[in-house]
Amino acid sequence: MHNTAPQNDTDARAGIDVTDDFERFAQRNDIFTRAFWDPTVRTKQTDAFFASYRMEAAPRRGDGFGQRDFALRNASWLISDVMTDRFAQDGRREGFQAPISADTPVAPIRFDVNDLTEMSREIKKVSRFFKADLCGITSVDARWHYTARIDVRDMSDAPNDLPEGITSVIVLGHEMDADLVDTYPAATAGAATGRAYSQEAATVMQVAAYIRNLGYEAVPSMNDTALVIPYALKAGLGEYARNQMVITPEFGPRLRFSKIFTSLPLAHDVPEPLGVRAFCDICTKCAEACPVKALPFGAPEVGGANVSALKGVRKWTSDAEKCFGFWAKLASDCAICMRVCPFNRDFRKWYHRLWLRLALSPLRRAALWLDAKRGARKKPSLWWENG
Ligand code: SF4
Ligand code: SF4
Repeated sequence: MHNTAPQNDTDARAGIDVTDDFERFAQRNDIFTRAFWDPTVRTKQTDAFFASYRMEAAPRRGDGFGQRDFALRNASWLISDVMTDRFAQDGRREGFQAPISADTPVAPIRFDVNDLTEMSREIKKVSRFFKADLCGITSVDARWHYTARIDVRDMSDAPNDLPEGITSVIVLGHEMDADLVDTYPAATAGAATGRAYSQEAATVMQVAAYIRNLGYEAVPSMNDTALVIPYALKAGLGEYARNQMVITPEFGPRLRFSKIFTSLPLAHDVPEPLGVRAFCDICTKCAEACPVKALPFGAPEVGGANVSALKGVRKWTSDAEKCFGFWAKLASDCAICMRVCPFNRDFRKWYHRLWLRLALSPLRRAALWLDAKRGARKKPSLWWENG
């Protein structure tokens, strides 16, 4: 079904360093999935974390953690939640532990694709129309697909299959709200995450429906089915960083990614190294700011602290247990390592584009120095008061 050929050229361009002891990832080892079955991760705090998304846990006091903050965050997740819960009774928590079911049949008449480059251009236009902020296209690569998905009725392994004939992956980026990201850590800030997930749920379903109307297979996907970060790198959307995020020239690390698996004939993007790796080599702002020291300070390494780390890829890897433990304590997601990152800027502004040129040049130390005073947390109460 999948193209399993080694993709060394693309890997090198995308900054992906796979070693001989590589193993595909089992979704049950994902830290969020472990929170449901692994007693070393599941605690009263993690249960309260999930309950807070249903307002069952009492909101805490403090700026950014009051009832309206949790209410905003939970409302922001609504569209994603409605989609995800549709088939939960069948064991499919779609978008997270299962790909999203098709709502549109594949049309019996196939649209003729004579020019792959033109078809890719059109798909990018359609993706933007359906509110994706970035779009890249790459080939299917079985290495990044989970060995099994999870049946959420009993947390058992279930087949992680895609339809026959899938050849390409359309990778979409969804910008997170800059003002809210500035307030991490806060339940208010979590609304930036939830709104992006709700948007991506709508976008991947609509782009997939478009392709199915053209007579080709298309499977909408969020965090399910395959790791999205290597796909975003392969699709040329950005470069991998110390904070485990993909840094993009448009939004830095301030976005989320989704994907669509398709049989539609498409031209593929070619990744280009940007220079982010060299910048992260001289910067440790994210690792220093992490309250639980879950991010590495040194060079990229193979493996990680526990089973939630991908095996056989040399990269910066967080200690997911420490990280998620902090989320549970907050009763909300954390992205301090996104907030403080010097690349967390609005590159629509010319002076930030100028800074980007400096950061990606041999003068990167000057760019880091210029960033020294940025990245402080903004009070969530100011977000409510402004505008
Ligand atoms: S999300 Fe928060 S806890 Fe996790 S690595 Fe980033 S700063 Fe640390
Ligand atoms: S904070 Fe610095 S080291 Fe961390 S990801 Fe951003 S640029 Fe890289």
